[in-house]
Amino acid sequence: MEHTNLLYEGKAKKVYETDDPQQLIVSYKDDATAFNGLKKGTIGGKGAINNHMTNLLMDRLEQVGIPTHLIRELSSREALVKRVTIIPLEVIVRNIAAGSFSKRYGVDEGVVFDQPTLEFSYKNDALGDPLLNSSHAVALKLATTQELETIRRYALAVNDFLKKLWAECGVILVDFKLEFGRLSNGTVVLADEISPDTCRLWDAKTHEKLDKDRFRRDLGGVEDAYQQVMTRLLRHS
Ligand code: UDP
Repeated sequence: MEHTNLLYEGKAKKVYETDDPQQLIVSYKDDATAFNGLKKGTIGGKGAINNHMTNLLMDRLEQVGIPTHLIRELSSREALVKRVTIIPLEVIVRNIAAGSFSKRYGVDEGVVFDQPTLEFSYKNDALGDPLLNSSHAVALKLATTQELETIRRYALAVNDFLKKLWAECGVILVDFKLEFGRLSNGTVVLADEISPDTCRLWDAKTHEKLDKDRFRRDLGGVEDAYQQVMTRLLRHS
């Protein structure tokens, strides 16, 4: 597969065009940012881990009926994906209070919900990714009501599947962020990544953080944590 044009470079990934207009190559970087780009660093091995974990999880999700943009893994850092137009929403599912939820509502981290919560943020760095509800998303023409219903259904199905899978690996899935995109025919599919950059993962026994919070909060052992969750997932699979 030939790399041609660099289409886009984000904080953690580069996206290249290929000779097929419907296919793109995603290349995962070791660069890490937090707090809307204010904190910058690198996490050794992160690109390869996030690539492999995303591909493995998307493969499994496809098997249970959730369509994704993944075509196949190309190399340690790269995956071939279907070209989509990203719907500019961060779709966040939470099982346990943490991060911005705890801060916003004054709830201790670790409070377990009876049912998962689902929220949307408007993916817009200049505005600081503000929280928004589905009527706002429709008013802003970010997605249709029907697309939002599909996204909601997929996001909760992803949670059911991943919560169980991670539990089998001795890991608690606290919360995570998904992004969806539209194929050229309008079909909504899961896109972006599913990795310790985008999920909160806690050790089931000790509640030790095994995700990007180690970087965000300067907890140390960042590389080890990413490696640890990848190893546990590979051992399980
Ligand atoms: N998240 C993400 N990208 C973002 C914001 C959040 O991947 O731009 C993930 C984050 O890693 C966590 C979940 O979404 O797993 C919920 O994040 P939260 O809203 O608590 O925000 P944070 O505390 O990370 O700012």
